[in-house]
Amino acid sequence: MLNIVLFGPPGAGKGTQSERIIEKYHLTHISTGDLFRKNIKEGTELGLRAKSFMDAGNLVPDEVVVGMVDDFLEHHRDAEGFIFDGYPRTTPQAEALDRQLENMGHPIAAMLSLAVPDEELKARLANRGKTSGRPDDQDPEKINNRISVYYRETQPVMDYYKAQGKYVEIHGLGDIEEIFSSISDAIDQLS
Ligand code: ADP
Repeated sequence: MLNIVLFGPPGAGKGTQSERIIEKYHLTHISTGDLFRKNIKEGTELGLRAKSFMDAGNLVPDEVVVGMVDDFLEHHRDAEGFIFDGYPRTTPQAEALDRQLENMGHPIAAMLSLAVPDEELKARLANRGKTSGRPDDQDPEKINNRISVYYRETQPVMDYYKAQGKYVEIHGLGDIEEIFSSISDAIDQLS
């Protein structure tokens, strides 16, 4: 079993690269953002709880996210491994993930962190907003808030994995396939 955290600021390309990773390595994709959007679309209670935080570009409270991930892992017990996309986003979430995986007997092998400059992130998100229909991609103020939330609350998660010797930085600018090739090299070195 191979468990990987794909990390990076909003707009870094986590979703795009996840698609390629799951295809090549047969991992199960868990994107907390996608799961919340699905719940909002279906009008579930969880979606209702998450919506106002997401619309403002703020983080959904840890206990809500951790509970949702618990549920997902419970329903995917026969997975060959997971790619965590957009989770963990806070240090308490990273601690929770360690506990969640301890129960399954397979810790995180690595955090692959996509490094992309802020100006490029803002341009990508504004561009995605034209087609994604995501309220949080439409408004420059919300985009700026997500990026500052990232630096304030999420970036410390890097240190958590650095301390465990699991941090790998991936250059996230340029050709999508070249970035994927750097990711593949990093994953191949794990096994
Ligand atoms: P992006 O990486 O573009 O911000 P995501 O789809 O990963 O997009 O997340 C969208 C929103 O969903 C976040 O701004 C946040 O409100 C919520 N969210 C997703 N994952 C988490 C998480 N692990 N913890 C808290 N909130 C989350």
